[in-house]
Amino acid sequence: MSQWGSAQSVGDIPIAPVFDGRAFENPREVLLRPTFNGDPWAHHGDLLNAEGQLELTMGAYLIRSGDRLVLVDAGVGMINNGQYQGGGLLTSLHDLGVEPSDVTDVILTHLHFDHVGWVTQKGEIVFPNATYRCHSADWQHFIESDTADDRAIRKLSPIAPRLELFDTDHTMATGIDVRHAPGHTPGSVIVIISSGDDRAMLIGDIAHCPAELTENDWEAVFDVDRDLARRTREALAAELEDSTTLVGAAHFPGLQFGRLLTGEGQRSWML
Ligand SMILES: [Zn+2]
Repeated sequence: MSQWGSAQSVGDIPIAPVFDGRAFENPREVLLRPTFNGDPWAHHGDLLNAEGQLELTMGAYLIRSGDRLVLVDAGVGMINNGQYQGGGLLTSLHDLGVEPSDVTDVILTHLHFDHVGWVTQKGEIVFPNATYRCHSADWQHFIESDTADDRAIRKLSPIAPRLELFDTDHTMATGIDVRHAPGHTPGSVIVIISSGDDRAMLIGDIAHCPAELTENDWEAVFDVDRDLARRTREALAAELEDSTTLVGAAHFPGLQFGRLLTGEGQRSWML
């Protein structure tokens, strides 16, 4: 296991971004700021690509803690419909010296399709030795309830024998904790990595783009419960601002870690 060059070290725990692909959204259709006067994106052109699109990185993070190799989320999978382009995750893992059978745990921050793409392929489990972990509220919402989603059922049902649902915050492995952060989906979770004095958080889709952390009044159309998602995001931003905690989000550009800082009363996202 050698090429962890782009990994972020948190104490003695490395966290590597694992790229699968990318997606393109019209920012004005997906991230709204209902109480803002004017075009909120006029101030955030730096977060858009040359075509004015919001480009979302698709992928996962790989954490090594002791003899555990933990994948946080599983990319968008083998898809290329123009808007969503995936397919690179296994190659990215291979470049890190990791084969699917090496992965010991897959934590799913939530069960939206762009986070579970490589959980199975054509009905077969992709990471044969992994324990799959997610919050029971998401399993209920996407797989078992009246709101269940056929695509999620097809994708996720095969992992049932290897699935461990949880409904409380807990330490999953040395230096790796999971915390419920509902709103984006009922069972969305944050993964907290700590070692020595260092700390990082993988926040899944609590925010899709840094603007949602620097300003409190955004709404994402992807959020199942927009009000709860906003309250969860706001509390998290308040906890993170001016802390030394590194933040990785599921779709931020290049899966780069950053920190949330304040200055002159305005939060900013710093790489
Ligand atoms: Zn997502």
